[in-house]
Amino acid sequence: MSLVETDSPILQVAVPSPLHGSFDYLPPPHCSPQTLSPGMRVQVPFGKRKAVGVLVQIAAQSRISTQRLRPALSLLDQEPLLGKDLLELSAWASRYYHHPLGEVMSTLLPVALRNGHAAQLRTTQRWRLTEAGKAISPADLKRAPRQAALLNRLQQSSDDGLTDDELNELAIPWRATMRVLLEKTWVESLTQAAPRTAQAPGFPPRDITLNAAQHQAFDAVCAALDRFAAFALDGVTGSGKTEVYLEIIQRVIAAGRQALVLVPEIGLTPQLIDRFHARLGQAPAVLHSGLNTGERLQAWLQARNGEAAVIIGTRSAVFTPLQRPGLIIIDEEHDLSFKQQDGFRYHARDVAVWRARQLGIPIVLGSATPSFETLYNIERGRYQRIALPARVGDAKPPRVRTIDIRGQKLEGNLSPGLLQAIDRHLNQGNQVLLFLNRRGFAPTMLCHDCGWVAQCRRCDAHLTYHHGQRRLRCHHCGAEQPLFEHCPECGGGELHPLGHGTERVEQALHDRFPQFGCARIDRDSTRRKGSLEQLLEDAHSGRHRILLGTQMLAKGHHLPKVTLAAVLDGDQGLFGVDFRAGERMAQLITQVAGRAGRAALAGEVLIQTHHPDHPLLRTLLSEGYHHYAAAAMAERREAELPPYMNLALLRAEATAAAAPGHFLDAALNLAEQLRITGVTLLGPIPAPMERRAGRYRAQLLLQAEQRGDLHRLLDTWLPQLSGLPGARKVRWSVDVDPMEMT
Ligand code: ADP
Ligand code: ZN
Ligand code: ZN
Repeated sequence: MSLVETDSPILQVAVPSPLHGSFDYLPPPHCSPQTLSPGMRVQVPFGKRKAVGVLVQIAAQSRISTQRLRPALSLLDQEPLLGKDLLELSAWASRYYHHPLGEVMSTLLPVALRNGHAAQLRTTQRWRLTEAGKAISPADLKRAPRQAALLNRLQQSSDDGLTDDELNELAIPWRATMRVLLEKTWVESLTQAAPRTAQAPGFPPRDITLNAAQHQAFDAVCAALDRFAAFALDGVTGSGKTEVYLEIIQRVIAAGRQALVLVPEIGLTPQLIDRFHARLGQAPAVLHSGLNTGERLQAWLQARNGEAAVIIGTRSAVFTPLQRPGLIIIDEEHDLSFKQQDGFRYHARDVAVWRARQLGIPIVLGSATPSFETLYNIERGRYQRIALPARVGDAKPPRVRTIDIRGQKLEGNLSPGLLQAIDRHLNQGNQVLLFLNRRGFAPTMLCHDCGWVAQCRRCDAHLTYHHGQRRLRCHHCGAEQPLFEHCPECGGGELHPLGHGTERVEQALHDRFPQFGCARIDRDSTRRKGSLEQLLEDAHSGRHRILLGTQMLAKGHHLPKVTLAAVLDGDQGLFGVDFRAGERMAQLITQVAGRAGRAALAGEVLIQTHHPDHPLLRTLLSEGYHHYAAAAMAERREAELPPYMNLALLRAEATAAAAPGHFLDAALNLAEQLRITGVTLLGPIPAPMERRAGRYRAQLLLQAEQRGDLHRLLDTWLPQLSGLPGARKVRWSVDVDPMEMT
């Protein structure tokens, strides 16, 4: 190695890999050190492959001998892609979630950038006449009819000329001819940033005056626009939370700043985007998983260069770079989709709060059913609660009742009482919304002759029967097969579907109410792009008077003609294994209830249950979500559970049944040897569904009153786990602040 290289700076690069920390490289060849700065991407050799990493720091010395260092292959950016704020955020998130820095950083980048594409906004080419070109008469070009035609077309267009797209619309081969005109200097070509694609919203902006409660909320946030403050906007459904967001955002934009809005996966509908567009007079940049990589890159870059004043996105949009950050909003902050459930298991709400503090800007966490974590943070004075206690205008809160279905004859899972109510509401010209959190036709197929049931071969679970495709599917691993004609056990021909999914209830509704259209909204019926929008549009137009769906239907959609909402299986959730089952059930019922009677029409909510006297249901129905939450939180405190405790879950899985338990036993021993106080370890125990996708799963729970104790243990313990006997026989992962104990 030459002497020059030993003097050269050392690049610390975060490379996506399961290994923690960053890796040292020499600068790429022919690269002057002054051009390097943290936040740029570099391509590096990594093992036998090439990888795209992010330069996190430039150091004078390496931790390993310079002789063994390899030079980076190339520098991919001329300026840092990730600013200092996002570099710090990734470093914090990597430490807090105990996830490798390189993978955290790669989550921050849109896929196109992860793959090494240039960080360039899409451009369009524009062709316009020069003075010379304007002076030519097409009639003089008889020998060159194509040139004459193109020239003529350009002379008819405005002085701005024509774009590639516009020329393509002419449906003639124009490029070769244009090149001739360019050579004759009759035209010139310009490159400019592509305009943000945005469909104009279909409705005009509405003039809305905030009511007193909305105004108070607006004032509270606006008083804090230049500093960090966390607000919990606790507003019942239909209380006008979105209007409050919009007013604050308008203020933020007027001050020349940007607003980042995060919504749950299924809440990011075209209707919502149109509403923002119409009210704010500009199209928001949208970031969600349904975009192609090019679209995603555009939106990301427009947020980064400040061109987009408002950015709306789902979970991962929390990491969007902002040129002039002014405000963060999390709508439906209690929603589970904000927590990433695999890989880098971050919670976008918690990351957003950290980020708002870092940036010195306010954050608003809105919900009609605040999570217990948020209620606890209000209690401790960390978040300021602002309330919208009533629905907007004349809309009254709905009447909520249980229907005791013990011993009742059910028709497609619908009790006589519910059927009567549906009939009444439909005949009054209104719409009804029925909620069942189970898709498919029936959750079980049973042989009437011998009792055999269709099981997934790879999971501890039954196969769900899907009638439309006549197939059996596992909802846990995705396995599927055609429906059996005969019982594989006894050869009998009487296979019965047992239980009810949305498909089956839809059939019953068709039979019973053939004159009213029924829209089924679940993951199966909305798989095709645009089908959810179509179903919702048909619901709006009144073509469908009955709406039946899973939790996809429970939130966000404003359906003013719905006067009856019903939960078909209120028992689901009362007896869940997860300690959060009750909280989720209460949120769901409250959200479903919020769909009824949102406009001038009075609403009615019915909940079918075998347990009308269950304390959860009684408190919830008679006193509302907040009373229920207070009681349930007291139980959590007693039981030493979140939000009063901090949890981490170490999961392990393997194809060999005993391997996860062995590994976790060894992990438990190791933790005990470390003697770090303040942390209790529970387990190992098998996961609630022990076998999934052919793997056995087990877990070890860590519990600490002080978050610091928990992280102190994880910091020393986790790096040693891969050295444990049995570690190589399992896949393991750690989940900090787990939201599901599965
Ligand atoms: P939330 O987000 O709390 O569910 P929205 O902001 O969507 O509530 O408001 C519900 C409905 O009430 C919307 O149609 C909205 O346009 C309307 N609305 C909200 N605030 C007002 C207001 N101050 N005056 C009139 N209509 C309002
Ligand atoms: Zn059988
Ligand atoms: Zn399965």
